[in-house]
Amino acid sequence: MSIITSHNMLKKAQHEHYAVPAFNIHNLETMQVIVETVAELQSPVILAGTPGTYCYAGTENIIAIAEALSKKHKVPLAVHLDHHEEYDDIVEKINSGIRSVMIDGSHFSFEENIALVKRVVDYAHRYDVSVEAELGRLGGVEDDLVVDAKDALYTNPKQAIEFIERTGIDSLAIAIGTAHGLYKSEPKLDFDRLSEIRSMVDIPLVLHGASGVPDKDVRECIQRGICKVNVATELKIAFSDALKHYFIDNPNANDPRHYMKPAKAAMKEVVKKIITTCGCAGKL
Ligand code: 13P
Repeated sequence: MSIITSHNMLKKAQHEHYAVPAFNIHNLETMQVIVETVAELQSPVILAGTPGTYCYAGTENIIAIAEALSKKHKVPLAVHLDHHEEYDDIVEKINSGIRSVMIDGSHFSFEENIALVKRVVDYAHRYDVSVEAELGRLGGVEDDLVVDAKDALYTNPKQAIEFIERTGIDSLAIAIGTAHGLYKSEPKLDFDRLSEIRSMVDIPLVLHGASGVPDKDVRECIQRGICKVNVATELKIAFSDALKHYFIDNPNANDPRHYMKPAKAAMKEVVKKIITTCGCAGKL
């Protein structure tokens, strides 16, 4: 077992009409919970980290922990770069052993986005590393990435064809009304736009910002062709809320091995729920 590219797992999901969850990880405990749970449910998984996470935990540490967990639980793991924006940073992490990357040039013009993504694809594909890119722009907050709602842009289906042809990416993150972080009211997704994009392009499509989207809407997105579902905020909230409650009940607690337990248990329930929604249990 080992660290693998996400390409084949997403292609399988596309053909068999389910989605692979991409869970954002932050530390040893979050990685343990996710890998233990996917092993129990025999689900494929992508462990995603933002630049902030790799900086916090250390790229080598994340890879070493993922390799150890993959071996222990006998599940292949795609360790993915989520919303990375810098070419040199991506190259460095590929050289460290990462096999799945997202280059986010969605803040640039169409032409500039293409130029940056193409450069990353040219490097990554030499090492069989899969590349995701974003067209359109998601609103919301994820780590240092903050996009005001007025700057969010839906994906243009015709542009998507050209974007894929000119960059050679392996998967496309589309903007259809989801946002990173918490929603102020229930999001209204543009399902027709998703279906139109799906009918026009052949590569796996990615839904970012799945936290807070009703399960039925995530399922509808998968039915209409989404094959990777990104979740961060729901995991963080479950983990942190359980931790806060533990400290309220045990104000003198000081042993991480004790206070991390309820946090991990709460996060595990969210991981299971997302796997059920994605329809990916037993798809390893
Ligand atoms: P949420 O935090 O809204 O779940 O978004 C996660 C995400 O899209 C990671 O790229």
